[in-house]
Amino acid sequence: MRGLFWFRNDLRLHDNPALWHLANQCDELVCVYVIDQNWQAWTKFQSKPLGSIRWRFICESLRDLQASLAAKGHTLLIQSGMPDKLIAEWVDQLNIDAIGITPLPGVYEKKHLSVLQKRFPNKRWFIEESFTLLRQDQLPFTVANLPDNFTEFRKAVEHIPTPHSLVVPSRLPEQIPFDFAAETLDCEPALDALMLPFKGGEKAGLQQLQYYFEATGLVSNYKNTRNGLDGWDFSSKLSPWLAQGCISPCKVLTELRSYERQAGANESTYWLYFELLWREYFQWLLVKYGSKLFQLRGTRNVNPLLTFYTEAFMAWKNGNTESDFVNAFMRQLKMTGWMSNRGRQIVASYLVNELGVDWRFGAAWFEEQLIDYDPASNWGNWQYLAGVGSDPRGKRQFNISKQQQQYDPDGLFINQYLQ
Ligand code: FAD
Repeated sequence: MRGLFWFRNDLRLHDNPALWHLANQCDELVCVYVIDQNWQAWTKFQSKPLGSIRWRFICESLRDLQASLAAKGHTLLIQSGMPDKLIAEWVDQLNIDAIGITPLPGVYEKKHLSVLQKRFPNKRWFIEESFTLLRQDQLPFTVANLPDNFTEFRKAVEHIPTPHSLVVPSRLPEQIPFDFAAETLDCEPALDALMLPFKGGEKAGLQQLQYYFEATGLVSNYKNTRNGLDGWDFSSKLSPWLAQGCISPCKVLTELRSYERQAGANESTYWLYFELLWREYFQWLLVKYGSKLFQLRGTRNVNPLLTFYTEAFMAWKNGNTESDFVNAFMRQLKMTGWMSNRGRQIVASYLVNELGVDWRFGAAWFEEQLIDYDPASNWGNWQYLAGVGSDPRGKRQFNISKQQQQYDPDGLFINQYLQ
């Protein structure tokens, strides 16, 4: 049997059940990745889906995956184009019998898969969930009945045991030969000294996991440090690797549980799990609501403020507003692709409440700029803050100067980014 594995946001060999099962069933295999041509197209929100910093992270992740596959006798086939069209061509031209894929909650990602399933109903499909901690059949409710607030969701799922993560398959079937032209991975080099040390790829993701848990024990103090604004150690920094699937959430939880057994569980180790459940919740919310997660009226179907001031939006995105605190965060985002969770909440509140701008423009700018952009977490958090999403309390308004006094009393963060 000839198998094709389509890598998307699961750029890893460990804990990849779809790859594992396909590889176990096939005699020959080809591994592919598509650079979606729409990632560079302007959207109606004056942003692009993919900026240069995340693109660099993806290129690094692909190079790392190429190296791991090469060690198993495989070449990763990478091309740019329309994903479902390219995959269909490869399936036809390489006489593929079986297709392996990790399902993703995103609207386009789901559409691509369903188009292909309709086109190839007689192929064998190896579709295995691993982008979330829980599989859909483990949820204690149907997706249509997913609770509309996080606390209810958390209480219902937090005691469900998650499966142990899988190791890297010891061998892969023979590579199916192909002579398609390979895409060169062009990306800008790392920027400057302010750049945080994010490096794409499974290897680097696993290293960061090891660093934050076993090597330093930083996770044991996570709850006290997680609201920090800058620096590497105040939070786990796992989000970019989780977003591209260089590590799986199950792997993070497996390592967390193993750390707790050795070093002891405490409020902080629980809190990291709590935050992973936020991620989990937004993923299932996206599955439940689909494109509604990206719409002005949100999943709650309420009427937010509907204004758009180009000048106010431009000032916000370029870090030229009347608030130095907001400006420092926005410049940090542009320079590094990163912003702390606290910063994200503050600048989102400022855009919506102080500048009165349609929240979707902010979410789209984050989509372009963030190194850890994830559709569900980004648009879900934006809806939550704008008061059109899953927060029963409605709109969240942060008092900017109070936040500044509490989190940057000496102005160190502001000075770092506004010089
Ligand atoms: P930690 O604090 O170490 O948390 C561990 C993990 O838990 C994170 O890696 C992440 O996977 C998850 N997590 C933590 N907080 C949240 C949260 N509020 N929502 C969902 N998951 C969470 N996160 C993204 O991964 N991608 C996004 O595109 C994104 N956009 C956001 C936009 C806004 C407006 C806001 C307020 C938050 C957004 N977040 C997003 C959530 C959060 O800010 C980041 O996950 C977190 O800052 C990443 O840093 P970390 O890995 O060090 O997190």
